[in-house]
Formats: sequence, structure tokens, C-alpha cells
Amino acid sequence: MKSHRQILEMSGGVPTVTSFKPERIKLDFPIFTRTVHGKPLIYLDSAATTQKPQVVLDTIEKYYSYQNANVHRGLHTLAEEATAAYEATRTKVAEFIGGVKPEEVIFTRNATEAINIVAQSWGEANVRHGDRIVITQMEHHANLVPWLMLSRKTGAKLKYIKITGDGLLDLSDIDEIIDSRTKIVALTQMSNVLGTINPVEEIIEIAHKKGAMVLIDGAQSVPHLPVDIKALHADFLAFSAHKMLGPTGIGILYGKQEFLEKMEPVTYGGEMISDVRFESVRWNTLPWKFEAGTPHIAGAAAFGAALQYLQNLGMDNIRRHELELTAYALERLAALDFIKVFGPTDPEKRGGAIAFADNDIHPHDLATFLDTLGIAVRAGHHCAQPLTKLLGVSSTTRASIYIYNTTDDIDHLADGLNEARKYFRYV
Ligand code: PLP
Repeated sequence: MKSHRQILEMSGGVPTVTSFKPERIKLDFPIFTRTVHGKPLIYLDSAATTQKPQVVLDTIEKYYSYQNANVHRGLHTLAEEATAAYEATRTKVAEFIGGVKPEEVIFTRNATEAINIVAQSWGEANVRHGDRIVITQMEHHANLVPWLMLSRKTGAKLKYIKITGDGLLDLSDIDEIIDSRTKIVALTQMSNVLGTINPVEEIIEIAHKKGAMVLIDGAQSVPHLPVDIKALHADFLAFSAHKMLGPTGIGILYGKQEFLEKMEPVTYGGEMISDVRFESVRWNTLPWKFEAGTPHIAGAAAFGAALQYLQNLGMDNIRRHELELTAYALERLAALDFIKVFGPTDPEKRGGAIAFADNDIHPHDLATFLDTLGIAVRAGHHCAQPLTKLLGVSSTTRASIYIYNTTDDIDHLADGLNEARKYFRYV
């Protein structure tokens, strides 16, 4: 395992914490001007949702103030502008994830809806009794429940790739788990509990050799790592704008055109048709076939601004910053003998979602106490109940970082954990 100092020294030409300047980035986020319980806000809950920079907020306001119209349907200037803003973000997303075709990028409500579309549309058409669906033990419910339901509906067997004691995927029996009966492998690229970054490249290759499709849950990876879905050759990718500076209510399903073309829509109505008769209907072309009804236009416009903000920082730089800060946080937490951290100890194998438990204080009490200090963390099962049970606990406290977090924030967290021991009289 590399220490925080070694990682700082390794960083070569890539900007480090010192040149990345999260303190400067914080100034772009109005929320950091507020206090919580009279203390400056320390936001360590970005795995749940990230804060929004002024440019994203301005884009929403500008859209509703000066551009508001429905997309695709009007021939007037406002409708054209709204459509241009909406479609421009689609093109930006396509570039952001490795230069795929804009037709392969579908706007959804969130990552959850994106995964459900694949499970329902592709799944119900292609998965049969006796087939296998493979996921991992570290999936968020969004990438577990849709597959559980598909296995129930079809009689296919749901198999899990296990995790090791240190929170990595156990690939020792991967050739038995992903076999010729496997129709799809759906896995997260980064765990929202353990922080683990999974070797998706290797798993995609194994799955494809066995003739299986692969869906990557990128809800935690796309906001934090450079993700080139074209280079990975994954068949589907799902993620949410709100976890990467964008608004809530908008997400992305990427799918390879050859598969999306063959898939049936799961929601019917306006926009997704090319021709409707009283007795019949023909679907629209990609990507609109999957976008029934009025979409989140302001959300798309603002997501475009969020992507631009991230691109200006550079995804490599973001990863480098988070790697350093995660290493720092792991070191600070490891020094607290009453805290157990879950997930890989090597910061290079993980992202900055760090779940932990105090030996004595319940995670909910701990999170509530930290809130009195202005520190926002999350407590619970983080929508990964089976994983939490596997860890031998009913819940954990989770601190998660993003571009605006500093070593100071981590110091406050560590101090807060010490203070909690005093407050709850364990010292
Ligand atoms: N997958 C992972 C790994 C997540 O962490 C989350 C949200 O926390 C989701 C999927 C679902 O994202 P959303 O609630 O935006 O659909």
C-alpha cells in the first residue's frame, strides 16, 4: 500500500492536491457560504449527491428565464434553442464517455432508470429459463433489484461474484460463475460503500468470450475517473448527472447502437414514435425511441455545464486529487483505534467513498453528532443491504469526497470522530 506522501511524490506531470486547489474550487459552490449549526459546512456526502457550482445553477436559471420551451416539437426560436441545448448535452456526454455516437446516449431520470430499461427491455427479450445473470455482492440496489426481478420473471439464475475480506472482487472462480449460460454481467465500476474500483476491463473480456453482454454501473465511477466506454467495449453504461455536479432527475443510459436498435422501448407516449395510427405504431429512431414524454430539458442544459466544468478541471486531475485525499483520509482514520474502515486499504484500488464503523457508537448517532459540527456524512446501508450484512454490520457511516474537499475537511472529520467518543462518554 502506498502512503499519502508516496502518492504525492508519484504524481509526475499530473497536478497534485497542491496545484489542484480544492479551496479555490469551493468558491464556485454557493452552498459552501452557508453554515450548519453555526459551523462552516463540511460536505462529505458526495457519493449520495454532489453540490452544484454556480455555472450549473446559472444555466438552470437562464434556461427557465430566457429559453423555456418544449423540445423537438416547435418551429419557433425558443423551441429551437431549447432543443439545441438539450441535444448539445447529448453530444457532450457522448464525448465525455469516450467518443461514442450521440444516438447511443439516452437521457433517463437517473442511473436506476437506465439499468431498469436494460433489464426490462433487453432482459425480457433475451433472458430465458436456465440462463444466468451475473452481478456482484457489492451492487447498489439499483443494480441488484432489476436483475433479481428479471431472474424471477424468466427463471434465469442470478449468480454473484463474491468479494474478498479486503473488499475486492474474488475472481478465483470467475470462469465457473460466468459460463456459457451467462446472458449478461452487470457490475459496478466503483462501489458506493467499499470504494473498490473493479477490474471491469478484465471482466468485460471474460464475459464477451463467453458470449455474455456487460452492463457497467458507472454511477460512482463516471463522476470520479476518466471512463472510456469505447475502449472498455462495455455494451451498456448507466450513470446519474446529480453525482457529477449536475441536477437531480437526469441520468444516462449508454448502449451500443446494434443492441439499442433491436431493443423495444419500455415507456410509451409522445416523442418516442415516428408514426401512430388508431391501430398501429412505429417507434422513433435512436435515441428518442427511449425518451417518451417531455424530458428534463433544463436538467440536460445544466448537465452540459457540469460536464464542461469537470472537463475544464480534467478527469485525470480529479482522480489524482481524490487518490491523494483518499490516501490521507485512510491514514487519518487508521490512526483512530476505535474506527474500523471497510474496503481496500490501498488507495489506488479504490475511490473516495469510505464506509467505517465506530466500535461503540451507532452509525446514526455518529452521523447526527457530526452534523452538529457542520459535517455532512451518511449513515445506513447505503442502498446495499446484502453487502452491509456481509460486512457483519447493520449499517455504516460513510464519508465521501469530491473535487471541493480538502485535507482540512478530513482533519475536521477525524477531530469530530474523537469528539464523538468524548460526547458519548467512551473516553
Ligand atoms: N449505482 C451506484 C453504485 C450508486 O451509488 C447509486 C446511487 O447512490 C446508484 C447506482 C443509483 O443512482 P440514482 O439514485 O441516481 O439512480
